[in-house]
Amino acid sequence: MQTKLPTIVAAGVMALTAFTGCHRGTVPATTDTPTALTPIKKTRAVAPSVSVEELQKAKVNEAGVIPILEYHDVLPKERSMVRSVDNFKHDLQRLYEEGYRPVLLRDLLDNKIDLPIGMAPVVFTFDDARASQFRYLSDGSIDPTCAIGMWQEFAKTHPDFPVKATFYVLPDSGFGPAEFAGKKLKALLAMGCEIGNHTVKHLALSRLSDDVVQEELAMCVAKIEKLAPGTKVDTVALPMGISPKNKKLLASGSWHGMTYSNRAVLLVGANPAPAPISKRFNPMRLPRIQGGEMDSGSTFWLDRIKNGDQGRYISDGDPNTVTIPSSLESKTDKSHLNGATLRVY
Ligand SMILES: [Zn+2]
Repeated sequence: MQTKLPTIVAAGVMALTAFTGCHRGTVPATTDTPTALTPIKKTRAVAPSVSVEELQKAKVNEAGVIPILEYHDVLPKERSMVRSVDNFKHDLQRLYEEGYRPVLLRDLLDNKIDLPIGMAPVVFTFDDARASQFRYLSDGSIDPTCAIGMWQEFAKTHPDFPVKATFYVLPDSGFGPAEFAGKKLKALLAMGCEIGNHTVKHLALSRLSDDVVQEELAMCVAKIEKLAPGTKVDTVALPMGISPKNKKLLASGSWHGMTYSNRAVLLVGANPAPAPISKRFNPMRLPRIQGGEMDSGSTFWLDRIKNGDQGRYISDGDPNTVTIPSSLESKTDKSHLNGATLRVY
């Protein structure tokens, strides 16, 4: 491994990228064309560097891939769109043992992944606001067999694996009985989770007029805002992974005075996401991996990553520095640094 002194690169900006087509289940490489730039931010303060030997030992690689997992129901029996209770618990345990730690989608989008050195980020997403994700018992406590209940239980003995996820909600579903929808959204936010847009009626956006696409996206935000005032909704997961004909409408739009804007668009399939520093990183087209045993599901991809045929993102322990092996420098885009300092070793 070539040893270099740290390379300091001026503050960058995260380019908003052009919208590209969406194919359900597959994610071809896309050409990213900047459409707008955020104001240049100051370079963030950097902690004292760890030695090259420590970086090598921990296999630090902040240009590696990041799994964004996607769950729907979590129920006793595994089937399509359902992760079994046992397998969900197994997922938590496996991810923990393999050095993954949960980060919010926001952290990935901001290029501010804050994990100890040697740890790998995983992003959890839950779609459709299903009751099996978050359910209360009659005594008001969280059902220990719903996804949140199981994760909270796991976090009691693994405090460095806290409940951190993005919930792409259908506001009218509201995780089961509608009267608890607002309470549950507020509880998720209090736990440190995020809420995202999954439209209202879960229709194939490609079949809708521009007006109805905007109605679906704007109404979802308005309904979430009504249930849990002040919630920031700025990312969308496409129902069934299907884009509207007019893809510009995913970034922003309005309907009858209600507005929305999204800084990221999540697909359905079917591979790990590139690191924020990667040339391939396109926030308006982020691939996800379905939790399950299906082709290109979570078990398939976690096995592949474990076997080393996908370079995994491994943190350097400092959210203000992006540390990469020199062999990957040509695959990075420094305009994605978003104020972080690049270190090549
Ligand atoms: Zn859905």
